[in-house]
Amino acid sequence: MARIYFDHNATSTLRPAARAAMIAALDAGNASSVHAEGRAARALIETARAHLARAFGVKPELVVFTSGATESANMVLQPALAGYACETLLIGGGEHPCVAAGHGFGAASPVALDADGRLDLNDLRARLVDVVTPLLALQAANNETGVIQPVTEAAALVHDAGGVVVCDAVQALGRIDCSFEATGADVLFVSSHKIGGPKGVGAAIFSRRAVMPAQALLRGGGQERGKRGGTENVAAIAGLGAAFQEVCATGADEMVRLGALRDRIEADVRALAPEAVAFGANAPRLPNTLAFALPGLPAETLVAALDVEGVAISSGSACSSGKVAPSAVLAAMGIPPEISRCALRISLGWPNNEPEGVAFATILARVRHRMQRR
Ligand code: PLP
Repeated sequence: MARIYFDHNATSTLRPAARAAMIAALDAGNASSVHAEGRAARALIETARAHLARAFGVKPELVVFTSGATESANMVLQPALAGYACETLLIGGGEHPCVAAGHGFGAASPVALDADGRLDLNDLRARLVDVVTPLLALQAANNETGVIQPVTEAAALVHDAGGVVVCDAVQALGRIDCSFEATGADVLFVSSHKIGGPKGVGAAIFSRRAVMPAQALLRGGGQERGKRGGTENVAAIAGLGAAFQEVCATGADEMVRLGALRDRIEADVRALAPEAVAFGANAPRLPNTLAFALPGLPAETLVAALDVEGVAISSGSACSSGKVAPSAVLAAMGIPPEISRCALRISLGWPNNEPEGVAFATILARVRHRMQRR
């Protein structure tokens, strides 16, 4: 049987439409050139920008292409570059490292999560007292648990306090409504590879000019209307545009289908292992994500054993550069370390189907049995 790839929150499978758009754009010229080759490249970029701008209901100049969400976070969370004046940075307790470590404020004050992984709005209220011009960075949905954050409610509180809200919509894009209307955010950022586009490209989207950076993070050739220097990666932007268009057309149906598959897998896991602990199960979650632990079975061993059996899933802990760190998100939810070290994440994407769900249950049962015998 073909391998089963259940790790779409890490990166999703490249969509054929994105691949085709990229191949078609690989020979494009430099989008800053005035000749025909340059104008053709410019047209590809502006087409992708127009898709995003239209879907988010903003003017095209409010969409800035970047190398991905990490760069976008670094760009929009720099007080020295910002068009707005915010003195205090508040961040959700489960933010991705690109926010938690990528901002340029002296310090960030993390807002607590509740036991289900949702931002504690009472803690946010308390932190907003006596704060002048707060900036809140809050993700729309968590990458590890899939828990959907109360961005709308949080944004209303921050706006009442005269602040600005930046929302990491990376895991939400194409999965739930992460529009400016739905989130109430002032700035959103997204990443192409989580929706089946290429890696290394993303966008920051601004609700209005006043919340755009006054200066670029990457200075140089003045590309992206002076907001992001460097020759544009035309093929990657074209791939992002194609993936985004497909997600706009099919995302809602895809999520209904994947939500049913996720529920089935969750039921199979519970039937197999009644001791399983599902994280964030009482909170609204992304339809494609299931985070759980099988207590007593270390995640790293289980992930490696499943890999050998042809299944790609992720351990709940963050893994970068081959180094595994305990999950800060699960710690913020009060999950004890002995459970957290067994945390696994299944995240589904557009190519997944029911037979893969059935096969996964069989393989998990086999691997679990083998590990328990040892
Ligand atoms: N934010 C979230 C919630 C993510 O899951 C990720 C990637 O895992 C990022 C940001 C970083 O995205 P990129 O890979 O585009 O830098």
